[in-house]
Amino acid sequence: CGIVGVLGQHEAAPLLVEALKRLEYRGYDSAGIATVNNGAIGRRRAVGKLVNLSDHLVHAPLAGRAGIGHTRWATHGAATEVNAHPHTGHGVAVVHNGIIENYRALGAALADEGVLPTSQTDTEIVALLIGRALQGGASPAAAVAAVLPQLEGAFALCMLFEGYDDLMICARRGSPLVIGHGTGEMFVGSDAIALAPLTDRLTYLDEGDWAVITRAGAQVFDAQGAPVTRPLQRIAVDQ
Ligand code: GLU
Repeated sequence: CGIVGVLGQHEAAPLLVEALKRLEYRGYDSAGIATVNNGAIGRRRAVGKLVNLSDHLVHAPLAGRAGIGHTRWATHGAATEVNAHPHTGHGVAVVHNGIIENYRALGAALADEGVLPTSQTDTEIVALLIGRALQGGASPAAAVAAVLPQLEGAFALCMLFEGYDDLMICARRGSPLVIGHGTGEMFVGSDAIALAPLTDRLTYLDEGDWAVITRAGAQVFDAQGAPVTRPLQRIAVDQ
């Protein structure tokens, strides 16, 4: 029910947990984070309160300056650790808010190719589809551009890619999503509140937009894949 993303100059895990805390007001049943560290994706997930995730991270720390985080309000699949986000496909980690309405049909097509999910979620199908495109040789941006038009429903997505310590791709259709601009750092959040301690310089994505983000900035594309410019706004939120 909340999404955060960090391409930072410092360890991402503590920033992600802190930002997720600011989204607790939305309600959730489980939480998780993933990072990319020297090209490798790592992930930690826990059912219940965020403190369970932070306890898990104390015993099994997750290094990396690029990361995504999620608080889940289950719609498809019980509130278990296996169903908690981030979900992974070949070379990709995905967090998702919302519902992929046609996930059964998409999953059936994947199953025909022998690609099977490990969870009961609609979200994992997105990760598997992107992973399949990456495996076929697509770049991360090309993989996302190919998969987004296949998805039906309302969603916000944020993704990390194996082998890319300076890349995050996010997308919105129906669920709000905001990009935060730091100094040599970039952020993604469900809302301005999540990012309040990190930055007040924000770019809201329009309906159907997706964005390729590096520490140098964000390139936004519309639903047709055309590059677009969205305004950078200063929005102060009471901390
Ligand atoms: N539909 C997804 C799930 O059940 C995402 C739910 C959410 O928005 O947190 O895992």
